[in-house]
Amino acid sequence: AKKSGRSTFRIYRRGMDELIEKRRALEADIERGLEREEFELYLQPRVAARSGDVVGYEALIRWNHPERGMVSPGDFIPVAEVSGKIIALGEWVVREACRLASLCPDHLHLSLNVSPVQFRHPDFLSHLDRIVRVSGIAPQRLELEITESVLIDDDERALSILTHLKSAGFRIALDDFGTGYSSLSYLSRYPFDVIKIDRSFVAALGTEEAANSIVRTIIDLGRGLGMRVVAEGVETIEQAVHLSETGCDELQGYLLGRPLPAAEAVTEITNTLVR
Ligand code: C2E
Ligand code: CA
Ligand code: CA
Ligand code: CA
Repeated sequence: AKKSGRSTFRIYRRGMDELIEKRRALEADIERGLEREEFELYLQPRVAARSGDVVGYEALIRWNHPERGMVSPGDFIPVAEVSGKIIALGEWVVREACRLASLCPDHLHLSLNVSPVQFRHPDFLSHLDRIVRVSGIAPQRLELEITESVLIDDDERALSILTHLKSAGFRIALDDFGTGYSSLSYLSRYPFDVIKIDRSFVAALGTEEAANSIVRTIIDLGRGLGMRVVAEGVETIEQAVHLSETGCDELQGYLLGRPLPAAEAVTEITNTLVR
């Protein structure tokens, strides 16, 4: 038993080593990728439920890797977070989002995802402030999407950062609402402008009884607190109709538009204006 235990351990160790090696390669790759401009933002529209007007776009990062092909954020954001590379990557996202916002008409806002690691970094506020100031766009046009996980560790600090962001003029959205350690007290304690209903609830609409109640409750709660409520992952007309009728303010999902490479999206936006 001892012997097989040891060889199991050896296999385990080898597996670990390979994992660490892979992760290290990916880390180095992220740095090179930034230098070689392999990252790209895609834009997905957010649409007012009542009018159908596009009110803004969410920026979603993609990695056009020379060997691996298109790598999705789920595969490299976690590694970037553990290694600290998320800081450089996050700054690039802010810079690029500002550039894109400046190319779009003023009434459109741009949402960007902020990692908890980035959010907690001591230089987050000052870097954000500097990048936005240099870009010349109004902070009101940027919406920062954060998840509940930034709120759990250090309440006071999170509150202080959020308050700073608010007073600087940024809009703040609580992403993936309902999936984390959702606590109702978060919603009244923190100055959110927007809550985004996680797409798992949207997907379950009409098929799971509980989903309808949860969605209705989130919408009533958000609106009662004066926030805009956005549903993500809207894929069918039935979902869109149900959400609009329940009072959801905005919709986002493949039904309304897939994420498009930013250059393409911007061309489309400016062409629509001319027409
Ligand atoms: P998220 O912020 O919840 O983004 C929504 C995800 O749902 C995106 O996946 C989007 O492409 C996808 N999606 C949009 N509409 C639909 C739909 O109708 N159906 C389905 N099934 N999916 C839909 P994506 O682009 O792969 O991003 C995954 C996650 O990676 C994001 O989840 C976000 O947490 C993170 N992420 C993306 N871009 C960034 C970034 O620039 N910085 C950071 N820190 N994280 C990012
Ligand atoms: Ca998001
Ligand atoms: Ca989300
Ligand atoms: Ca998510």
